[in-house]
Amino acid sequence: LSPVPSDIEISRAQSPKAVDVLAKEIGLLADEIEIYGQTKAKVHLSLLERLKDQPDGKYILVAGITPTPLGEGKSTVTIGLVQALTAHLDINSFACLRQPSQGPTFGVKGGAAGGGYAQVIPMEEFNLHLTGDIHAITAANNLLAAAIDARILHESTQSDKALYSRLVPVVDGVRKFSTIQLARLKRLGISKTDPGTLTEEEISKFVRLDIDPSTITWQRVLDTNDRFLRKITVGQANTEKGFIRQAQFDIAVASEIMAILALTTSLADMKDRLGKMVVANDKNGQPVTAEDLGVTGALAVLMKDAIKPTLMQTLEGTPVFVHAGPFANIAHGNSSVLADKIALKLVGEEGFVVTEAGFGADIGMEKFFNIKCRTSGLIPNVVVLVATIRALKMHGGGPSVTAGAPLKKEYTEENLQLVADGCCNLQKQIQIAQLFGVPVVVALNVFKTDSHAEIDLVCEIAKHSGAFDAVPCKHWSAGGKGAVELAQAVRKAANQKNNFRFLYNLELPIVEKIRIIAQKVYGAQDIELSPTAQIQIDHYSRQGFGNLPVCMAKTHLSLSHQPERKGVPTGFILPISDVRASIGAGFIYPLVGTMSTMPGLPTRPSRSKFRFLKIETATSLF
Ligand code: ADP
Repeated sequence: LSPVPSDIEISRAQSPKAVDVLAKEIGLLADEIEIYGQTKAKVHLSLLERLKDQPDGKYILVAGITPTPLGEGKSTVTIGLVQALTAHLDINSFACLRQPSQGPTFGVKGGAAGGGYAQVIPMEEFNLHLTGDIHAITAANNLLAAAIDARILHESTQSDKALYSRLVPVVDGVRKFSTIQLARLKRLGISKTDPGTLTEEEISKFVRLDIDPSTITWQRVLDTNDRFLRKITVGQANTEKGFIRQAQFDIAVASEIMAILALTTSLADMKDRLGKMVVANDKNGQPVTAEDLGVTGALAVLMKDAIKPTLMQTLEGTPVFVHAGPFANIAHGNSSVLADKIALKLVGEEGFVVTEAGFGADIGMEKFFNIKCRTSGLIPNVVVLVATIRALKMHGGGPSVTAGAPLKKEYTEENLQLVADGCCNLQKQIQIAQLFGVPVVVALNVFKTDSHAEIDLVCEIAKHSGAFDAVPCKHWSAGGKGAVELAQAVRKAANQKNNFRFLYNLELPIVEKIRIIAQKVYGAQDIELSPTAQIQIDHYSRQGFGNLPVCMAKTHLSLSHQPERKGVPTGFILPISDVRASIGAGFIYPLVGTMSTMPGLPTRPSRSKFRFLKIETATSLF
């Protein structure tokens, strides 16, 4: 329709097919799905075993140029592209997307189901709760947080003997160590397996984790932008006997368990990663893990359904997996390895799986290659780089773009000079993708204010800058048929020679890995470590974690650390203020400047994106 109706109107106007019908269409067996309502189903991991001999389809990553705060349409392009491939070119394809957090959904950004005629439906189901995975993460995370404080309290108030009889109780007349406890004894260098034979000294060593409260890095989480929980005091009731300490809440999607869900490859692997999560140091500076606290099994059980990807559909009835949604600033910003792996089997050798990396290519794509692909072993065939005329104009020196404010005339009227000047950012992001040896197709997401001359200019510059192809896309206003040209270009690019390579070797020292990303990807002159960052790097290297990949926590609004520097900033020194570790997820994360792990709510959410949350719309759901 023209003008294009609102996202919610479009979403509601289309009746989704029943999810069991969709599941059958894509070759799933009845006992491989668990249906949640009419339009969502969890998919069993046993599929990977059943289809293990099936060759993988082509693997396509959608990334973007440095965006405006409004987003440039990566989700929309991802969905438009699979609609074009499946419904218009008759090629099996799957979109694999992140589950949105309630934080951004009710915050500045809004939902993440795409937009216009390129959406996942039903949009409310996609944006809110889905199949409860984020709630499971919250429950697991907070169980561990509670276990840490409870253990400190219990160790301080109980004798070694009392702790021992509680930790290793007599069951049916026998005192027996659990498997987890036997593993802990082994780590402590105690080779005994009979609880009756431990000396007093060994019992003391075994029962006391001796957590140093000042080193606790594990925080409680909530999936709401609640800024007043950024700093809290816990333990104020008399029953906690003065164990008061300052702590904080993070948003659930910034938690390590979310990153683990996104990176895990099986239930056993997830359990192993959950056990390895380091929550604090003991008083000798040694790491204390979830396994030491004896909660690994409980965490894995809480996550047993969350590990299964959720099947949904696009407006044109093509399949979508929604699974995991780690924050792209402090985690790696990509949907799950498991969903991609299952989808690659389901589409078959000639099919396509399209997945999306958060923010600009310098952030989400770099982490996709260096972290996600390293874990999964999957090799992408093509990078689709999404650009918009408005973001290019901003990089060319246009006035700042603010969410909720009307766009200035530079953005609504033709201005070829601003576009040409801003293409430096597009060129740089193409070069970043080329560092990894993968062909790039530029998808110019067309807005109704873009002129023909502006569109031609961008496609011309992109092709001269090393892109395999560059095409305008109109999926937002026309659905899959508006992205057919893109689908054809991607199909051609996927048959090109692929020289995929990682950017750094894991064996390099942590500082070197950070420097390589800063210089080669961001274009920094060098890096500068704060004294805290240096201490943490030395500490993690001593603890044996130096060989992990690096997950940079940096603003997405500039290639540099300064959001106001647009285009391609040069000559800057990237300041590393702190370095932290997610050992279970398997990365070290350096903080560039200050990164908030708990966003705040705006005074009023942006109207156009939030129409679906208006009370009259919400009540009509019942
Ligand atoms: P990203 O994934 O890059 O953050 P989205 O795909 O979520 O971006 O798009 C951001 C917003 O912009 C959505 O509300 C979407 O409906 C809107 N949008 C995307 N493309 C267009 C377009 N071509 N014309 C108008 N609005 C668009």
